[in-house]
Amino acid sequence: MANKMFETLKDIIQAVNKAPDLKQALNIIVQHTRQAIQVDAVSVYFRDDKTDQLVLMATDGLNPNAIGKIRFNPGQGLVGLVMNQSEPVNIQDAHTHPNYCFVTETDEASFHGFLGVPIMQHRQALGVLVVRHTSKRRFSPGDETFLITLAAQLAGAISYASRMGELTQWLDHVAGQSFHMKGLSGSPGIEIGEALIVFPPANLEAVPDNAIPAEETDAQIQAFTNAVSNVESEFKELSRRMEGTLPREELALFDVFGLMLKSDSLIDAIIYRIKAGQWAQAALRDTIADHVKQFDAMDDAYFRERAIDIKDLGRRILMHLQMQQTSTPDISGPTVLAGEEVSVSQLAEVPLENLVAIISTKGSPSSHIAILARALGIPAVMGIDDLPINRIKGQKIIVDGYSGQIYVKPTKAVLDEFNRLIKQEKSLDSQLQELITQPSETLDGIHIPLLVNTGLLADITPSLQSGAEGVGLYRTEIPFLIRDGFPGEDEQTKIYKQVLQNFSPRPVTFRTLDIGGDKALPYFPVVEDNPFLGWRGIRIMLDHPEIFLTQIRAILKANIYDNNLRLMLPMISDVGEVDESLRLIKKAHAELINEGIDVPYPAIGLMIEVPSAIYQMKALAKRVDFFSVGSNDLTQYLLAVDRNNKQVANLYNCLHPSVLSSIQHIVDVAHQYNKTVSVCGEMAGDPASALALVGMGIDSLSMSAGSLLRIKWVVRSFTQQQAKTLISQALEMEHTADIYSLFNNAIDQAGLGGLIRAGT
Ligand code: PEP
Ligand code: MG
Repeated sequence: MANKMFETLKDIIQAVNKAPDLKQALNIIVQHTRQAIQVDAVSVYFRDDKTDQLVLMATDGLNPNAIGKIRFNPGQGLVGLVMNQSEPVNIQDAHTHPNYCFVTETDEASFHGFLGVPIMQHRQALGVLVVRHTSKRRFSPGDETFLITLAAQLAGAISYASRMGELTQWLDHVAGQSFHMKGLSGSPGIEIGEALIVFPPANLEAVPDNAIPAEETDAQIQAFTNAVSNVESEFKELSRRMEGTLPREELALFDVFGLMLKSDSLIDAIIYRIKAGQWAQAALRDTIADHVKQFDAMDDAYFRERAIDIKDLGRRILMHLQMQQTSTPDISGPTVLAGEEVSVSQLAEVPLENLVAIISTKGSPSSHIAILARALGIPAVMGIDDLPINRIKGQKIIVDGYSGQIYVKPTKAVLDEFNRLIKQEKSLDSQLQELITQPSETLDGIHIPLLVNTGLLADITPSLQSGAEGVGLYRTEIPFLIRDGFPGEDEQTKIYKQVLQNFSPRPVTFRTLDIGGDKALPYFPVVEDNPFLGWRGIRIMLDHPEIFLTQIRAILKANIYDNNLRLMLPMISDVGEVDESLRLIKKAHAELINEGIDVPYPAIGLMIEVPSAIYQMKALAKRVDFFSVGSNDLTQYLLAVDRNNKQVANLYNCLHPSVLSSIQHIVDVAHQYNKTVSVCGEMAGDPASALALVGMGIDSLSMSAGSLLRIKWVVRSFTQQQAKTLISQALEMEHTADIYSLFNNAIDQAGLGGLIRAGT
């Protein structure tokens, strides 16, 4: 594409990104595209999922009254043809094409040249972008590329609009009505609560709307003026410190900042917005955005650069505002935590008795925040990328963690239906409670111990109450994540003791620190291009033996109850790592003995979660006592699918034939060497997958406490022989979907349908 076209495209995309709502975004697209390729009409059609029709949503050039009214059936007209073929249709004279259909409302008769491209996402056409010309015209390959690129860029932003139901709801929502959106199921269950928005500090774009009552206006204005004078003094101080270091011209920048801060247009506009009812942070956000737009639109490169300074200034004022206004949110009822990327520390800030669900615009079901939601037994919906996060504060939200849907400001009918489902769910739960004291045995008497995954001290109680036979995975990094610095040996020992004591005499498997990937410690930043393939887990520990040894000593010292400790190493990809870890563990143990602390040497196991370990099972089996399959990472690495990337979440599947045959191999080799194998990834808590694992001969399963009784129901409803027959059929299958159906049908037929969907 010619450079100029590329620049134009970039400008359009930037303008679209800044548009306050979808309607205006579409208007920008049609207007700018019309100018950019000099055509007589540009229009956008979306597919209405309910009717499968293509609906005209925006136009520049056609009759605007036809918006929402013109509908094409699949394959109907040239627009329908583009949709059906999922490829561009470029026709010099539309009238001569067999698919041409004349539509009066849009005055089609006056147009001849036609170029339509599909708006594609995830192999699906969400809609069609069309340009038309009154005279006959064959559009150039450059025009085609331009439209294809634009359509591809837009697909993500308008994906929700492909489902007309959602689009209608979105538009209704803008008018203050209820709407619903779809993301990915992160943790099962249904809950209703009020949205509490969490947002990263000093990020203007993340500031949510917050209307204030008139009596708060003065306080907000005061907070704002305080923030401005703090920033002023900050600049003065910076400028003073830099004197003599920076050249004079650069120092002048601080004067520019000072002038900007005093500028009436900025200050007055913010105060005006506060007086109109916004809180100071959002008033600042909108005013800065206005100024940035103005500077961005300037032809002069120098002034365009000033947009960056304005943003910087805005961020500084925001930081000071946030410092004054950090008040603990007022949480009294059931709360749905919502954010762009909800972090573990934000989760820990909400009293657990109020936290009922989590929704996040980013992330996927295998993100750690979703895993934590499962640990806490609350529903989570991830990856709702179109969620208008700054408009839902305080709104009532239904979170359906089974289907991955949320309903904002639900209507009475929707609320009634979900309350009915919640009641059914509660009755299923109380039915399941009866299983607490029952053994986890298959119908033919094979005992499959069910263990829990924990990490937060807060989830020990539900874990104990679930009737778990022990802890199969204690994620030690979680206590590290919610602190401001590395906990010392004594502090760690205290935490580990609590866990060992609470569960004794049941075994507790402590996994050594597994940071890196998406678990960065705020006080130990690791910045990498590919964090999941980088410095992670045991790799960091072996490079920092001082941190590793402190932790091992703390864990060994905590083992004073019934010798119920087991130690497990994560992310093993090579036998060398095992040898080095064992050397350090022996060293820590010997040190303690020398210090007169007589603790036993624990059973040591490995996580099998990196594909290379699968093929070194024999060598590994000779070195350790047990194995546990980390199916979350194993799936990610085997399938080359980032566990946190929503874009490829449909490819992430632990019932993929390759994952299944790998686990079967792991179990077989471990058993040859008389070593036990557990699964502690999320797979163990999924009913269909758990049934598959029982068929493979797994020795135990470790999962979130919330899943335990459900899985016990599965174990108790089948013979191991039945599970074996199913897995041998599954291992012959080529498609993941067929494997899912095989196991889910078996679960349904056994009368356990309530485990895989809401309601019974
Ligand atoms: C796993 O990878 O399956 C696992 C249990 O570890 P984590 O999810 O903490 O990476
Ligand atoms: Mg892992």
